[in-house]
Amino acid sequence: MQHLVYADVIVDISHENLDKSYQYAVPDEFISKAVIGALVEIPFGRGNRTIKGYIVGLSATPKFDVSLIKPLLNVPSNGLVIESHLIHLAYWIKDTFGATMNDALKTVIPVKRTVKNVEKRMIHLILSQDMAKEKLEEFHKKHNVARARLLEELLKENGLDYETAVNKLNISRQTIKALEEQKIIEIVSETIYRNPIKRKEIENQKIVLNEEQQKIIDEVKQEYDLGIRNTYLIHGITGSGKTEVYMELIEHVISQGRQVIMLIPEIALTFQTVNRFYKRFGDRISIMNSRLSAGERYDQYLRAKNNEIDIIIGPRSALFAPFSNLGLIIIDEEHEGSYKSETPPKYHAREVAIQRAAMVGASVILGSATPSLEAYYKALEGEYKLYQLNIRAGQGILPRVHIVDLREELKKRNKSIFSEQLKSLIIDRLNKKQQIMLFINRRGYAGFVSCRSCGHVMKCPHCDVSLTSHNNGHLVCHYCGYHEPMTDNCPACGSRFIAAFGTGTQKVEELIKKEFPGARVLRMDMDTTSNKNSHEKILSSFANQEADILVGTQMIVKGHDFPNVTLVGIIAADLSLYASDYRAGERTFQLLTQAAGRAGRGSEPGEVVIQTYNPEHYSIVAAGRNDYKEFYKEEMTFRKLMEYPPASHILAILITSKEDEKAKNYAYFLLKVINDLKTSNDNDMYRINEENQLGIIGPTKAYLSKAKDIFRWIIYVKHIDYEELKDIKNNLEKIESPIEFKGVGVQFDFDPMNG
Ligand code: ADP
Ligand code: ZN
Ligand code: ZN
Repeated sequence: MQHLVYADVIVDISHENLDKSYQYAVPDEFISKAVIGALVEIPFGRGNRTIKGYIVGLSATPKFDVSLIKPLLNVPSNGLVIESHLIHLAYWIKDTFGATMNDALKTVIPVKRTVKNVEKRMIHLILSQDMAKEKLEEFHKKHNVARARLLEELLKENGLDYETAVNKLNISRQTIKALEEQKIIEIVSETIYRNPIKRKEIENQKIVLNEEQQKIIDEVKQEYDLGIRNTYLIHGITGSGKTEVYMELIEHVISQGRQVIMLIPEIALTFQTVNRFYKRFGDRISIMNSRLSAGERYDQYLRAKNNEIDIIIGPRSALFAPFSNLGLIIIDEEHEGSYKSETPPKYHAREVAIQRAAMVGASVILGSATPSLEAYYKALEGEYKLYQLNIRAGQGILPRVHIVDLREELKKRNKSIFSEQLKSLIIDRLNKKQQIMLFINRRGYAGFVSCRSCGHVMKCPHCDVSLTSHNNGHLVCHYCGYHEPMTDNCPACGSRFIAAFGTGTQKVEELIKKEFPGARVLRMDMDTTSNKNSHEKILSSFANQEADILVGTQMIVKGHDFPNVTLVGIIAADLSLYASDYRAGERTFQLLTQAAGRAGRGSEPGEVVIQTYNPEHYSIVAAGRNDYKEFYKEEMTFRKLMEYPPASHILAILITSKEDEKAKNYAYFLLKVINDLKTSNDNDMYRINEENQLGIIGPTKAYLSKAKDIFRWIIYVKHIDYEELKDIKNNLEKIESPIEFKGVGVQFDFDPMNG
């Protein structure tokens, strides 16, 4: 029999075994049902036992001798289990972002637990409450104190841990046995999944929502109940009560028996946040994050699959929680860079969330005080529904912002990193026993070169990005590869004070101690938070006012509520402005807005000092005014002019090899393939006209030109239509490369976020 379709089937759904797939022929009768993700029954092993598997790939060509390929036995139509759904999603991710099916599968399927289950014996009441109360009376009368104690405990909370009863309540094993024999209680063994959240009090003290909040809730609920599924973007200033809105909508969705995924950036997943959700939803929530052990993480996967929880809170990876009746996905701080995966598949959580939601009929809510250009653009285009929250909901008003021009400080011969204004405000707050946060953006540390005297920044003449100082004494543009030697004098003003900029948190900490000897300082950055709980310790210590000043990187700007903080200082706002990629302006605006939002959340009004060499830059001006729309307008003009996302799309093709020459040659080989595609396609695919053309930049050495002894080359392809870039990706995935390029790797990255 001649088969036309062959299916790759995996038989063991665990992270470690995804590499192993087996090929089977698909008999004609199953062709329409044999889709990627479908559950199938196959003959397996020497004895040809029938086992279950999942289709992860389909092809028209057999991998080996056709006569040796066995046919599938069955494709049961109840194949739409959660695994099928996730495998299907993996396929969509592979197709949309470019990756091998294996990498895509490993993204959606977690590492299997390596530690065994914990079994726990639990005591449950068999009698009804009334009858148990009667029994209790009887025990009291007979002075059976131990029995009475056990029963009292079970009347309070049915389900008592056996060991607790013996060790803590001091009830003997015989007593328990006697009650079991009397059929008053039963003893059941239960599998205990590790629960990363410690039990806390549930106190559902609902607050009265304001009009702005209520409007969103009413409309979203109404649409939800009508079966309308949408993507909503809530643009709400810091502290405007977005989280309250999320919780209200979560409650609505879970009350209908559906589940919710709540994504928040890893950094924001603190004790405070979890506690807030726990207070409202109790044990029905769980969390996932990188600080959990593999076993803990796998257990949360099982708890989600077994319907033990309704809400999972976590970073990007929580998107793949195996809920079978998902109703809502929320992405808080939607603009965060961490929602984009840095390893293949380089997917964006926002896009995957929208896809997963569409597959199962769920809604998506995106929230941010500073939405990504992409999201806001789509909202304005009508693709998402846009809501605004314009006032602070709880206590507090937006802070007063001062923008300090650092060039003036130099003129005043102030060589300190603290401007006079910031210094006097710090002293004022220290005197008033109010707290201060000093923020330094380490991301820009990578070494843009600027002049201390006039603020001039070395930029590429061909691209609107700053040059980066490399160890070899060259200034390099990583978009086009342009480079020039490091200069001794500022080309703008001739000053000798030109250097690679970099002030670390540690240095700032030292300087504070020197300038404000009495102040108690806490530092939070990668170095001080490498231990498991150090993150939380620092924050709670600061919250308990054990320190006056908290110095940190972007870690400290996320979502924390410290009512006693009345001053926020941004040491050098420019640091992120000249990170060498087109999102620098956006990132700067976001960081400044979020940082400013930390001040004045309590009863005392707050002030913010932004120190900068670029007081006129629109990102800084708009952040100072808390004016997102102004920023969006300016930034969008820039993106349109330069054809950067979201005005256009970029596909970055990264070519890697152990040999630099080989990577380079392969990059040129791919360039030729792309050019051939472009010219061979005159069927309207690549319309080469002014408005709608394919722009190619490179090949060039990647910004990170060598990593772990692997050389990296890059080609950027720009087009206004994502589908056309995807088409190029698909073609490149299919090409058969000449043998000399064996071992060269290719990675795709659509609309890269990290340079
Ligand atoms: P966001 O998520 O937008 O930063 P939150 O939901 O965290 O805002 O709200 C900020 C603070 O305001 C929280 O302490 C919250 O409890 C409080 N809050 C939110 N909505 C209201 C409201 N309608 N009335 C009073 N306080 C509110
Ligand atoms: Zn200068
Ligand atoms: Zn350039």
